[in-house]
Amino acid sequence: MIELENGTINPTKIVCVGRNYADHAKELGNEAPAEPILFLKPPSALLAPGGTILRPAISQRVDHEGELAIVIGREAKHIKAAGWREYVRGFTCANDVTARDLQKKDIQFTRGKGFDTFCPIGPRIVSDLDVSDLRITTRVNGDVRQDGRTSQMIFSCGALLEFITTVMTLLPDDVILTGTPAGVGPLAAGDVVEVEIEGIGVLRNAVA
Ligand code: ZN
Repeated sequence: MIELENGTINPTKIVCVGRNYADHAKELGNEAPAEPILFLKPPSALLAPGGTILRPAISQRVDHEGELAIVIGREAKHIKAAGWREYVRGFTCANDVTARDLQKKDIQFTRGKGFDTFCPIGPRIVSDLDVSDLRITTRVNGDVRQDGRTSQMIFSCGALLEFITTVMTLLPDDVILTGTPAGVGPLAAGDVVEVEIEGIGVLRNAVA
């Protein structure tokens, strides 16, 4: 459970989408995927707005990934992309913090993406928002590192929810991280990282 400015969220799972922006897939040397690549972050990774991201001693490379997050409003199973908004409680900003060296070393993402504090989210949930073409920016100590638009997603929010709910039932407060634009990069102790999405606000976290 995590407290945001205008409510709490208590997800059973955090479903993430890899390589959903072509320019980010390219910067890591990957092809744009033919269908969404899914992975999970544990709810224990959630971090409130203003909380401190803790870089684990075992990793030499912890990256930011600014992302649009969807918060689910009601049970969703085998839904159609066209009706996806009915299942949404709202939207917020998220940072899919990643131990890049561990992600590359392991054959899957559980360790590299799953540390405590690796899922900052917030600052608030916004329900009434057209998310089809919003600016999404990530800054470190005020310098812009990522600057994209949600219209650059390979798979739209509706397509993602249709795909995910063919695999697993989404429950109220489950969170979907929709992928990150190009410009991912390292975080150091003492940094302040901000993810800003037009219409939502600024998610700000310190790094230690
Ligand atoms: Zn990500």
